[in-house]
Amino acid sequence: MHWLFGDQLGPHFTRPSDDGGPARDTPLLMIEARSVFRRRRFHRAKAHLVLSAMRHRAAELGDRVTYVRADTYREGLARAAGDSPVTVHHPTSYAALRLVCSLPRVTVGPARGFLVPLGDFAAWADGRGGERLRQEDFYRWVRRGHELLMDGDEPAGGRWNLDHDNRRPPPRDSAVLDVPRPYRPQEDEIDEEVRRDLDRWEKDGDVSFTGRDGPRLFPATRTEARAALKRFVEHRLSTFGPYEDAVLAADPVLSHSLLSAPLNLGLLDPAECVERAESAWRDGLAPLNSVEGFVRQIAGWREYVWQLYWYFGEQYRDRNALGHTAALPDWWNDLDAGAVRARCLSTVLAQVRDTGWTHHIPRLMVLGGHALQRGWDPAAVTDWFHRNFVDGYDWVMVPNVVGMSQYADGGRMTTKPYTTGGAYLNRMSDLCGPCPYRPGDRTGERACPYTVGYWSFVDRHRARLARNHRTVQSVRQLDRLGDLAEVRRRQRALGDSPP
Ligand code: FAD
Repeated sequence: MHWLFGDQLGPHFTRPSDDGGPARDTPLLMIEARSVFRRRRFHRAKAHLVLSAMRHRAAELGDRVTYVRADTYREGLARAAGDSPVTVHHPTSYAALRLVCSLPRVTVGPARGFLVPLGDFAAWADGRGGERLRQEDFYRWVRRGHELLMDGDEPAGGRWNLDHDNRRPPPRDSAVLDVPRPYRPQEDEIDEEVRRDLDRWEKDGDVSFTGRDGPRLFPATRTEARAALKRFVEHRLSTFGPYEDAVLAADPVLSHSLLSAPLNLGLLDPAECVERAESAWRDGLAPLNSVEGFVRQIAGWREYVWQLYWYFGEQYRDRNALGHTAALPDWWNDLDAGAVRARCLSTVLAQVRDTGWTHHIPRLMVLGGHALQRGWDPAAVTDWFHRNFVDGYDWVMVPNVVGMSQYADGGRMTTKPYTTGGAYLNRMSDLCGPCPYRPGDRTGERACPYTVGYWSFVDRHRARLARNHRTVQSVRQLDRLGDLAEVRRRQRALGDSPP
């Protein structure tokens, strides 16, 4: 038997190849383990999506698959496979890898769904001393190795990085970006069954969820995932680059692809995504700055994050270089957007509550930035992101939150902490306008919680930030503030309450 985890659902997980994979007629096994949902309080839209995707895949595979509903993976495996040998592709978390390695008759094959084998990355990183690895170097190495957007030995268009053509603020004359709407799937009877099951589990008091389980917004099948990729490449990719970092209250998606969920379920392979985007540029359907920006996200960032998760080792998740220990307050855990007055945070928290998704900048600057400024425990912040995002899995959350967003690794992944005052949010979004706080104010009744939080963060970590050439300027500016005592007082007054 070959075992498919719930994030190994695409054809590249059942295809035989030189490095392993099940033969064409190998029976398949899928296990729906209830204990996964009991252990943690997931967003209900995420639970819905994963179960829907697994059940849709099982329906497609028909008699070839044994689909077991069990309490735990161990129990499901014993019931379905008994003493027979089982193969599985390398799972996506340390916990799952430990589990499969501890089972006597299970053979673990190589990972699928990424561009670079883990061993190749380890050799590349070891060759650089293993420390201070740079995503930009990795990205160029992947582009060369996979001949992505290359003209011979040179990057297509002559430059590796077209960021300065991107990252525009949102248009000021419109509440939404003028682009065709993204692909959204139609629910079917499998979704109805999933919803009934989740209702029952909640009613029985067996599990508890966060968020709202509205109509399913993300692909659950390969057909849906391919339709989403096609729509993005044909209608939305051309505006992806310029508005990558912009935020609009009434248009949470802008030109983003919404492909992280199907990619992380294994419904899409990253190679097909970047190849489709490159073809769109070569066919004159999308400009290079947008295509390069998208390829960088998938072949650069996504791939890098996956590799670092394994390369940095299991202890990386416990890093806490800034010594942040505060617990997450209930209003945050409950996604209680209504309790928050700061318009940016309230808007973004409502997006997470209603859909289990928001794009990169709200994750990094609004949610992650606030957690960092408040000094919340990075492990708890990682767990919160993991549970509440439809695309959240251990491998992708640990580096993105511990490393990129909370700087808990002390700079192993990024060169400086990502946190900002209200001025950046005001420049890159339309969120500040009707907010009761003013982005420029750091004292007084209308002081922006992000501006106060930013200066308090620099103040608390001044010694560390003064040693870093990328942040020393912030410390110098802090030293010139005449009202620091009042800033400190305002930050203390906030306590645990929503801003
Ligand atoms: P687009 O903006 O359209 O980007 C295209 C693709 O690039 C995404 O689909 C994704 O597959 C990939 N990508 C880009 N950046 C990253 C990155 N840093 N890490 C991994 N993939 C990346 N992404 C997840 O897939 N799952 C997560 O749980 C997740 N958690 C995050 C938590 C924090 C605090 C931060 C700062 C980022 C996180 N990201 C995560 C990365 C990124 O925010 C999402 O991939 C992206 O917002 C998903 O929306 P999209 O598909 O429309 O992305």
